[in-house]
Amino acid sequence: MLTLLKNANIYAPNHVGQGHILIAGEKIVYMGADLPELASPLDVAIHDVGGATITPGIIDGHAHITGGGGETGPSSRVPPMFFSSFTRAGVTSVVGVLGTDDLTRNTQTLVTQAYGLREEGLSAWCHTGGYHVPLTTLTGSARGDIVFLDPVIGVGELAISDHRSSQPTLDEFLRIASEAHVAGLMTGKAGIVHCHMGDGDRGLAMVEQAIKTCEIPARVFNPTHVNRNKPLFEQAIMLARHGCYIDATAFPDGHVDPGISAADAYLQFKAAGCRTDRFTISSDGGGCLPAFDKEGNLTRFGVGLSQTLPDTLAELVRAGVELSEALAPLTSNVADLLKLRHKGRLAVGMDADILVLGNDLSVRDVMARGQWHVRDQNPVRLGTYEEL
Ligand code: ZN
Repeated sequence: MLTLLKNANIYAPNHVGQGHILIAGEKIVYMGADLPELASPLDVAIHDVGGATITPGIIDGHAHITGGGGETGPSSRVPPMFFSSFTRAGVTSVVGVLGTDDLTRNTQTLVTQAYGLREEGLSAWCHTGGYHVPLTTLTGSARGDIVFLDPVIGVGELAISDHRSSQPTLDEFLRIASEAHVAGLMTGKAGIVHCHMGDGDRGLAMVEQAIKTCEIPARVFNPTHVNRNKPLFEQAIMLARHGCYIDATAFPDGHVDPGISAADAYLQFKAAGCRTDRFTISSDGGGCLPAFDKEGNLTRFGVGLSQTLPDTLAELVRAGVELSEALAPLTSNVADLLKLRHKGRLAVGMDADILVLGNDLSVRDVMARGQWHVRDQNPVRLGTYEEL
């Protein structure tokens, strides 16, 4: 299984320039300006991309792969995401999470869904736990789940400053962070606590207090949805100075207010002088996006979509950000945070997760682990039951 991508404008995500990429099985085995000489008995599929832009596949660090929701009754449970909703959006790696519903859905279903996505050709991991304390786990502890279950790389999404949270105390929060951190050391996995931030006035106060009072490195504390309202985002900029990775959510159109878009969040983060290599963007795909009034009544409803990630990439470039820089929060930064050592960059030895972009930066072709999933914007592989 050899594939040669010829005449590509390579963003790795740094701009490499014109070149060719040879893929063997699931790996990149050559990348360079000279066309590799291949012996004639080798069966090589050659794709001349005609100077098109090639980038690493997107890593979505936060998606409800089992479906999310259920906040307005059982019928509001969102079904699992369609396989091609990832690939069409250029997502080749995904991290599944449980949110509000960590009861009818659990770590067992999440781990199994990650295995299923792997079987279908994607790269998939998950966190253990969910919004609530005590954590939903499979082995009886978050530490055990991270150490013994291959797909589990951290804890999340643990809800903080949210009316749907367990109102965890600082001590409970620190205990969870210690489990994630120690398990990360034991395994070489990310070992983070991915924190769902709600709209509560306390904002990031507990995360900041945790970083200031304990010995656990700041990188373990990883808040997401920080762009959901402006005061929270201002706190996130302050928190980033302690060394945290900050995750913004690429909300769909109509769900940005009262916050700011992920692209605007990146621009403000950079303008504030924060380290942009510690900024990531995820989709909240498959999660329900409700809004509540002060009495807790639901006022609005939507579902997160992977497509918001390539849309955010295009938005950043339209705002004047270089493509190589705009790609990092969706690729290399996420791989660094999650310690996915073969993901997020194009280089020899890395996994062959590759996007071919159109002139308008739309996702044209998608290769995941060396196999084509999307050609000319059409999925050429579907999930197991997707055609039904
Ligand atoms: Zn969340």
